[in-house]
Amino acid sequence: MDEEHESSYKQDEAPRYHARDAAVMRGMLEKAVVILGSATPSFESYTNALNGKYALAELKKRTENCVMPVMTVIDNRIGTRDEGKSSLLSKPLVNAVNLRLSLGEQVILFMNRRGYARQMMCEACGYIAECNDCSVSYTYHRKKQILTCHLCGSIIPAPEVCPKCASPEIRYSGVGTERVEATARAYFRDARIVRMDSDTMRKSSDYDDVLSRFKRGEIDILIGTQMIAKGLHFPNVTLVGILNADQGLFIPDFRSGEKTFQLITQVAGRAGRGEVPGEVIVQSFNPEHDAIKFAVTYDFRSFYEYDMEVRKVLKYPPEGHLIMVHFRSESLEDAAQCALNFHDALRPLVHPDMLMTEPAPSPVERIKGKYRYHILIRGHRLKQFRERLRQLVLHSRLPNNVDVYIDMDAQSTM
Ligand SMILES: [Zn+2]
Ligand SMILES: [Zn+2]
Repeated sequence: MDEEHESSYKQDEAPRYHARDAAVMRGMLEKAVVILGSATPSFESYTNALNGKYALAELKKRTENCVMPVMTVIDNRIGTRDEGKSSLLSKPLVNAVNLRLSLGEQVILFMNRRGYARQMMCEACGYIAECNDCSVSYTYHRKKQILTCHLCGSIIPAPEVCPKCASPEIRYSGVGTERVEATARAYFRDARIVRMDSDTMRKSSDYDDVLSRFKRGEIDILIGTQMIAKGLHFPNVTLVGILNADQGLFIPDFRSGEKTFQLITQVAGRAGRGEVPGEVIVQSFNPEHDAIKFAVTYDFRSFYEYDMEVRKVLKYPPEGHLIMVHFRSESLEDAAQCALNFHDALRPLVHPDMLMTEPAPSPVERIKGKYRYHILIRGHRLKQFRERLRQLVLHSRLPNNVDVYIDMDAQSTM
C-alpha cells in the first residue's frame, strides 16, 4: 500500500519555532535526538508526543509567512452535474482553472488512480472484465488499448465487443488520470498539460524533466497521482484540484481515514507557496465524512481525537497491537482449513483485553492465482499469542500447499 510518511522538512522549509518551543528544542539538541517533522504525523507518533514519549514542537506558521491555502469542498453528488450529467470536473473548478491560467499562474490536478477507467462492463449481459489470477477488475488504458491488472501486471488487448455475449455495448466506469488528462485537454484547449504517473514516467529522468519544465513555467497544468502529492515546491502554483478525495476512504482498512486526511493535507500544501495565496478545490462524494471535514480545515487534532475513539473501541493501533496471520494457497479449501486449525489452536488464549476474528477471506481474495485467508489478532497483552504462533509455524506440520505469513506488528489490515 502507500508508503509511510514522516517526511522531513526541506531546506527552504526549515521550521521556525516559537520562543516557547526554544527551550524544548535546546533540550532536544543537548541529547542525541531524532527529529520527526511532518504536517501529517502518523497516529503512533502523535500519540507518543501527547503522552510525553516524544517532545512536541508545533509549527503554527507556514514558511515565508505564507498563509495556508483556503480549501473549498464541492459535493460531487450535485456540484459536478452539468445538465443532469455527472462530469469529472465541477463548474467551480473549471472556472477557477480558467481564472488562474488567465493570470499566468499554474495548476495541479490530483487523482490518485492511473489508467483511463477502473472497470470495463458489458451493458447487455453485465459481464465485468476481471483478471484471471486476481479477484479484481481490469483497468482500462485507452491510449494503448489494453486492459491491465494493477495487482499482478497481466495485460490483455481491450476487446471491442463483449467476450461473453459479443455485444458492442461496452461501458467504462471509474476514473483514472488518463481520463482526467483527456477531459482537461477538452476543457482547456490552449493550456500546456502534462500527466505524471507511473505510466508516463518510465525513468527517473522523465520525472526530473517534467518538474524542471514545470518550474520554468513551460507547463500550465500538471495532472498526477501520489507521485506529485508531496515535497514539490512551485511558488507559481496557486490552485490545486483534488478530483476524487474520497477514493481511498472505503478501503477496508482501519487507516483509510488517516491516509485520506494525510493525502488531502499533503496535496493541498502544493498550492500558494509563493506570494499569491493558494486555493484548493476538493471534489468529494462524501463531504460530510470526518476525514474530509477535518482535513479541509487543517484540524489534525480533532480528526485524531475522533478516529482514536473508534480505534479504542475496536482495539486498533496505536490503541493496541495488531497481528495479522495470512494464509495463501492455490486451493481455497486448504487455505480456509489451515486458517481454521490456527484459530482452534489460538482460541484458548483469548482474554478480555484483546480480540481475535474468525478466519475470513482477505479483502482481495485472490492474487496471482493464490487464495488468501486471514486472522486478525489485536489489543493488549499479546505475548502469549506471539509465542504460540511461533510454535505453530516452526513445530507443527503445515500443509505443503499453504503458505503462512505472520506479521507480528502489522500496520494495516490489507
Ligand atoms: Zn456481454
Ligand atoms: Zn492480476
